[in-house]
Amino acid sequence: MDVTNRQTNEVVILGAGLAGLGAGYTLSRSGADILVIEADATVGGLAKTIHYRGFRFDIGGHRFKTNNKKTEYLVRQILNNELLVVRRSSKILLRDKYFDYPLKPLNAVSGMGIPKASGIILDYAVEQIRQRFGDRKIVSLEDWVVRHFGRTLFNIYFKEYSEKVWGIDCNRICMEWVEQRIQRLSLGKAIRKALFKYSGRDVHTLASEFLYPSQGIGRIAGKLKEEIEKSNRVLTSSRIVRIDHCGDRIESVTTRTGQMDSRTSMHKGSEFISSIPVATLVQLLHPKPPTDVLDAASRLKYRDLVIVTIMVNRERVTDQTWIYFPEQKIPFGRIHEPTNWSRKMAPEGKTLLVTEHFCFRGDETWSASDGDLAERTIINLINLGFIKRHEVIDKVILRIPRAYPLFEVGYTEQHDKICNYLDRYCNLRLIGRGGMFRYYNMDHAIESGIAAAEGVMAERPEPFRERWEELSPTGTGS
Ligand SMILES: Cc1cc2nc3c(=O)[nH]c(=O)nc-3n(C[C@H](O)[C@H](O)[C@H](O)COP(=O)(O)OP(=O)(O)OC[C@H]3O[C@@H](n4cnc5c(N)ncnc54)[C@H](O)[C@@H]3O)c2cc1C
Repeated sequence: MDVTNRQTNEVVILGAGLAGLGAGYTLSRSGADILVIEADATVGGLAKTIHYRGFRFDIGGHRFKTNNKKTEYLVRQILNNELLVVRRSSKILLRDKYFDYPLKPLNAVSGMGIPKASGIILDYAVEQIRQRFGDRKIVSLEDWVVRHFGRTLFNIYFKEYSEKVWGIDCNRICMEWVEQRIQRLSLGKAIRKALFKYSGRDVHTLASEFLYPSQGIGRIAGKLKEEIEKSNRVLTSSRIVRIDHCGDRIESVTTRTGQMDSRTSMHKGSEFISSIPVATLVQLLHPKPPTDVLDAASRLKYRDLVIVTIMVNRERVTDQTWIYFPEQKIPFGRIHEPTNWSRKMAPEGKTLLVTEHFCFRGDETWSASDGDLAERTIINLINLGFIKRHEVIDKVILRIPRAYPLFEVGYTEQHDKICNYLDRYCNLRLIGRGGMFRYYNMDHAIESGIAAAEGVMAERPEPFRERWEELSPTGTGS
């Protein structure tokens, strides 16, 4: 490879999403000499905000919510007076009726009429009795939901939506994902809540308020970049195309920069922190890892996403944070109206609807033309009664590869093989959603970046570490 430029930094960070930027910020504030490298022209990864002719929107609305004190402190510190507290109110639209989201089982039961409701409660009771006579193994989303809600409720609410989001049968979706998303919600708890005023405070999914930067979620990444650039560099439009290693160490990464991939640079470092998808990382290693590791990397799957945003000549269309559409006949799974999160997301008197179309790269949705995607979205929004055709003023279509790691039953075998192989590199740390192949939210991504940075600092002379501790809040958070 013809390398035109060579540089050395103490720590090289791969990817400038929130995980990479969280690591970069922590290290920069501690006086380290770092470089952050990003393929895209802008930072933020999945948590960026698109700006278009006075409109702003995230790649699917991103609410910030955390139980981790350090992460919350960091976000509050950098965004200070830009943060809004937004009340969350979301609905599921199913067979022309609205239900609460997250699903409140009593609302779901009562909204179905007496015969179906009796079926749901009976089914739930059967599941409870079954559990007492020998516990069945819970492997998939289907097993988990049926156990906690009964089969009827699973069939009505969970099956169609989950299969729309993930593109595979519910009995192939690994239960690890379920536990993180709909943890501790159950019909039993809902009934107890209704009868005995169960507080629900321990259930993260029910949280009713969140933080949101007034100019879109991308402000978090933008601010982190600004802070890092006070002492270090964030290189954008620079795709990592090769990662050289020798023995138990990563030695350098090579980037191609510019629209035509015109300039090639090599970046050496003592430590490497990677937030790029772990499968990509493995494929970029030079010399190549053993075939079984490469094979495992190629088997890790992701769900992709097409975002179709429709700009509307009206002040407001909905009063919800998100609306979910489980039915397969509707092409999108979820919509949000950014102006309900912050009025600054659209010019005065106008609004926009962001629709999320879950897909796999190369399938019919992914490959459809922008014109077709816009048209099918507009027709459905009109049929659902949200907009009128003459109100549509513009549209933007984005294709987002690898939006969700896909946790198919058995994926851990591939993941473990990759992690066991990468463990040999004593100067490589993996962080973030794609980097660790975890169902991480933004707070987890930032947290993993901070933790990796602290790991690097822990191996450094003491004064270096103290500077970060001075800057962080007291208490370690959860
Ligand atoms: C539709 C949707 C809605 C979401 N809503 C929420 C929400 O409401 N709340 C919440 O907390 N979280 C939400 N999330 C999750 C959140 O977006 C992620 O957890 C977080 O942004 C992950 O950050 P990251 O840095 O780990 O990964 P990423 O954002 O994926 O960053 C990785 C970066 O690496 C770069 N990269 C990849 N390959 C290369 C290469 N070869 N060379 C250089 N750079 C490379 C990428 O361009 C990217 O910028 C949502 C996600 C999606 C998809």
